[in-house]
Amino acid sequence: MITSSSAHGNSSPSANQLERARESPLSTAQRPLGVALVGLGKYSTEQLGPALLETKRCKLKAIVTGSPNKAEHWQKQYDIPKSNVYSYENFDSIKNNPDIDIVYIVLPNSMHAEYSIRAAQAGKHVICEKPMAVTVQECENMIAASAKAGKLLSIGYRLHFEPYNLAMAEFGQNKTFGDVRKIIARDGMDIEPGVWRLNKKLAGGGPLVDVGIYCVQGAIYTSGELPVSVSAIEGKKTDMKRFKEVEESMQWTMEFPSGLIAECETSYAKQMNLLRAEAEEGWFELNPAYEYDGKKGRASDGPFEFPQVREQALQIDDFANCVMNNRKSKVPGEMGLRDVKILTAIYESARTGKKVRLSEFSSHYKNQTH
Ligand code: NAD
Repeated sequence: MITSSSAHGNSSPSANQLERARESPLSTAQRPLGVALVGLGKYSTEQLGPALLETKRCKLKAIVTGSPNKAEHWQKQYDIPKSNVYSYENFDSIKNNPDIDIVYIVLPNSMHAEYSIRAAQAGKHVICEKPMAVTVQECENMIAASAKAGKLLSIGYRLHFEPYNLAMAEFGQNKTFGDVRKIIARDGMDIEPGVWRLNKKLAGGGPLVDVGIYCVQGAIYTSGELPVSVSAIEGKKTDMKRFKEVEESMQWTMEFPSGLIAECETSYAKQMNLLRAEAEEGWFELNPAYEYDGKKGRASDGPFEFPQVREQALQIDDFANCVMNNRKSKVPGEMGLRDVKILTAIYESARTGKKVRLSEFSSHYKNQTH
């Protein structure tokens, strides 16, 4: 069994990267930053709220919700005063609240741009959930709004802060098993009917933008390269009622400058959770790869294992560190924009049946492979 300290004979840089999120304790003069969560749905309730109980450099101080019942429950659970409970209507008045430094947007995808921009205009740093927005233009508007306000913008890409996915990046980019030739990435689930994720207007797309985005991300950080082209085929719908508005599944191939190919698949009708790299001298994979816990790592020379972490706590604390030190996040708005451009190209390829070239913007983002 390979463990975090012995993986492939190295002391693990993944562990070092995690250390960044832990940095030195706050001095007595520093207060933890205040976070406001916008949207108290499943992800906020089950993951982000609990993560914010573990963060060292920031604390949950405010909530934004349309449901008074939810507000009452959250106030009790997280000790939030009534004055720090906002509705979607009075949200902009958060600008007058000095307790709040960071606004975290956890709403349906089509609402990300509006609320991120309103938060930036209120003078707050922003974390926005993935996918960053539903159009490239919206992503650009969000980046511009944060820049104009002089505030930081980050995307909720939690996997950049957890050891298994960091190990994939390390093995691939450091060529631990030689040059990576092929990546296989699959992410899918069997979705329940009637949810906003199946509504094109609210979600912006189907499984591709929701979970397929992790395949795009995984291929990029494992290869350390950006794709130069995509070719996609939308899967045949087996359930016309559930998938009236969005694709049921998508298969696509991404080509990278080194000749590496990523074969990817996403679905809202099939459970899949794989990130696998095939290299000159071996292979390495995570299965599951993108779940919050229970990730499993295997390589051609044996399994690899890391301690379980609350990746969202590390992600949010890293952003708080960025704010405190005026350092750009390693998962900035530009990365969210890059990914929305790739997703848009995948849809274009599926629609036209043609390969879509990405070389123009991939060279623009050459420093953003992590
Ligand atoms: P959810 O449906 O559980 O929650 C959505 C929240 O938005 C609810 O509180 C709902 O009341 C509120 N809302 C406000 N206006 C709404 C409207 N018009 N229609 C529907 N809901 C409305 O969804 P979720 O799973 O919490 O996802 C929220 C966001 O978080 C999405 O962008 C999703 O992609 C992202 N997410 C990220 C991860 C991750 O691992 N990073 C995991 C899950 C979800």
